[in-house]
Amino acid sequence: MTVPPDKEMSFLESVNLMFDTALTTLDIPEGMGQYIKNVNNVYQVRFPVKINGEVETFIGWRAVHSDHRLPAKGGIRFSQMVNQDEVEALAALMSYKCALVDVPFGGSKGGLLIDPKQYERESMEKITRRFAFELIQKDYIGSGINVPAPDMGTGQREMSWIVSTYTAHRPDDVNHLACVTGKPVSAGGIQGRVEATGRGVVFGIREFFRHPEDVKLAKMEGNSIEGKEVIIQGLGNVGYYTAKILDEEDGAKITAILEWDGAVYDKNGLNVEEVFQYKVENGGGIKGYPKGKFFENSAELLEEECDILIPAAVEGVINQSNAGRIKAKLIAEAANGPITFKAETILGEMGVVTIPDVYLNAGGVTVSYFEWIKNLSHIRLGRMNRRYEENQNNLLIKAIQESGGKVPQELIAKIGQGPAEIDLVRSGLDDTMRVAFQGIRERYWSSENVGSYRTAAMAISIEKIYNSYRLMGIYP
Ligand code: GLU
Repeated sequence: MTVPPDKEMSFLESVNLMFDTALTTLDIPEGMGQYIKNVNNVYQVRFPVKINGEVETFIGWRAVHSDHRLPAKGGIRFSQMVNQDEVEALAALMSYKCALVDVPFGGSKGGLLIDPKQYERESMEKITRRFAFELIQKDYIGSGINVPAPDMGTGQREMSWIVSTYTAHRPDDVNHLACVTGKPVSAGGIQGRVEATGRGVVFGIREFFRHPEDVKLAKMEGNSIEGKEVIIQGLGNVGYYTAKILDEEDGAKITAILEWDGAVYDKNGLNVEEVFQYKVENGGGIKGYPKGKFFENSAELLEEECDILIPAAVEGVINQSNAGRIKAKLIAEAANGPITFKAETILGEMGVVTIPDVYLNAGGVTVSYFEWIKNLSHIRLGRMNRRYEENQNNLLIKAIQESGGKVPQELIAKIGQGPAEIDLVRSGLDDTMRVAFQGIRERYWSSENVGSYRTAAMAISIEKIYNSYRLMGIYP
């Protein structure tokens, strides 16, 4: 991406201004508002790792924004852009996100300043295990206190190193598997976690389209995503699953995919899986993709006409320098913080509707919650009831048939099934995303002083966090 760096304010300042806007719509004592807004604690650590015979020093952070609920939850990011400001902003977003979708966690985030591409697998393992050890030592990892997860630059592989490091140090902790989420299924993970954030984004957009008043607000028509023109920025984990599901299940037209080394555009729609395979086979870039039109400067395509623009990479890509030129009708924030506070103001004046990150990308942490519950209960979801429900459903089909009713043959197998883990995960995620959006739109449409979905979402979150702190006895 070559968007000029956004010098308008830091990420944390931007998130805090969004918070302040929401706070003005609530009747919460000023002191409590300030307390909720700011990070409770942040740990910065420097540690050495011997790589190819040489000692290198690394620097990392883990911030806890809120602990009104425990454990505090949030990913660990490995990137060259990581700094304390970013980690604090992301931890704050985790608090608001969890509160909004009723995932009973506080908000946390970690970051390691590193370019993972520069290191061999073996070195990455050493570095990750050492970072995990530093966090475990200071009680920044544990199933009841703080539970990391994947984020940019990390995935299942890093999570299994973390859980194995934790288990080595706390072998007596019967809940050791619950110390981190986003693990491979074979190491205590849950089906559907990898796709969860992207699938959650799609569930969120689908819910938006179920409300004609809201679709009209974004100057669109119809009650479905089918045929809508969509631009995706970032084909990482979140962008890939979002785009793939929109393309293959919802019939959206993915007209542009933007990556770090350029963008591909096709007015008739791109085949997401094909672009992704090309990316995997070509060192993580899309330059040279043979179909569609190629653009060297991918940022240009953020400003292309479309129905839905989905920034799914890093923060600050839509800022005061380009917000005025955005032509999308709806921006669906799949990444954390892609629209800055100032850009949000400009977009609001232009009538561009935003579905905010604190809501839309909460699918990841929602399924992390399911994984954590699975780990604490030491049983796979559906293990007790799947066959029972299957038998009951088949009995019902038999009863219908024996009393003269006809059940279409193609439906028998479908109705007869009991739920597998993936079915339960998707159902829980779908419900979470539907209910949360209904709450946001209800607040938006019913309050005169709530000017955007973001303000509505943040206000709901702040209220919930405030009420938790009050129940704990922390109130003015
Ligand atoms: N890193 C993801 C996020 O930003 C997931 C966090 C989690 O699962 O705890 O929401």
